[in-house]
Amino acid sequence: MARITLSNLAHSYVPNPKSEADFALKEMDHVWDDGGAYALLGASGCGKTTLLNIISGLVHPSQGRVLFGDDDMTNAPTAMRNIAQVFQFPVVYDTMTVRENLAFPLKNRVMDPAYIQSRVAQIAAMIGMEATLDRKARGLTADAKQKISLGRGMVRQDVNAILFDEPLTVIDPHMKWELRTQLKLLHREFGHTMIYVTHDQTEALTFADKVVVLHEGRVVQMGTPQELFETPEHTFVGYFIGSPGMNLLDATIDGARAQTAAGPVPLGATYAPQQGRTQIGIRPEYAVMTKGEGLPARVLRVEDVGRHRIIRADVAGTQISVIVPEGQPVGDDLTHVRFDPARVNVYANDWRVKGADR
Ligand code: ATP
Repeated sequence: MARITLSNLAHSYVPNPKSEADFALKEMDHVWDDGGAYALLGASGCGKTTLLNIISGLVHPSQGRVLFGDDDMTNAPTAMRNIAQVFQFPVVYDTMTVRENLAFPLKNRVMDPAYIQSRVAQIAAMIGMEATLDRKARGLTADAKQKISLGRGMVRQDVNAILFDEPLTVIDPHMKWELRTQLKLLHREFGHTMIYVTHDQTEALTFADKVVVLHEGRVVQMGTPQELFETPEHTFVGYFIGSPGMNLLDATIDGARAQTAAGPVPLGATYAPQQGRTQIGIRPEYAVMTKGEGLPARVLRVEDVGRHRIIRADVAGTQISVIVPEGQPVGDDLTHVRFDPARVNVYANDWRVKGADR
């Protein structure tokens, strides 16, 4: 296992990149702790697979270095990196049995047969395939084959890291939950460094201790699920994470107060004057519809999503969302919205600005 350091790393698929736009991954410096469970989260095309492939050695970065511990691996071939990688679609040997597929990485390294047998049994139990161990992989469903791929990715205990690239895409929904739980248990038990690529926030937040949010080739935040929720460092994190995402209102900042088109909003801290586009961001969980307190807000519609209701309202031309906890009435007399000052974040040109406590 190893700490992974990405130093001054950037990648362009264009031979002679001229501007930042030519880079699929913009310059980054990051350390992935040894034994961490990370999710790499972002929309399609933001560079997740590129980053994963740079770590495993399938792609050589156009700039910067990749270190495992203190060893520079930038030019090391894939085989020398001692990394297990599980792809979106199954990679299995059709002519081999499930058992042979699972044992393959261990046999390749000439491990003790008794150990191979017990480890394969353990992994088979984890992926729920004990009963099919002696069947040939050919003829199994895509779902079952992907479980074999997952099992094979996890069978070796001596790897530096295990990388998963959207591994549950072809797995049916109820099994997804189970496999993700199993992955997390496995991580607890063996402490491998795991990096799990997904565009699905639920997968990311339930799997990872730390979520790395990529946006247009840039890491915009690396934090715990709670940090991403409470203090999104970039407006993208605010609206990509959360359901619905964070509300954003244009504002000018004046000390401990934000002035919006609909009126003033008290802030939980004081802020220096900001340059460029300034916005306040409030999660729908921290907004409350009132009968007269706060900003004027016109209710557009109410959506019942089971656990709670979501009010969509118009605030001086901007649509916002307000979560109403179960059991609270939504009457016709709700005309304003109030935000919890301590939960209002301030953004200048999309990046969060830190305030000074009052
Ligand atoms: P997805 O979730 O759709 O797989 P991703 O976040 O994994 O997307 P990448 O596949 O890393 O994103 O792609 C990042 C950018 O680099 C995209 O603009 C993509 O078109 C481009 N790209 C990826 N692979 C190549 C390649 N081999 N040659 C040229 N451009 C590429």
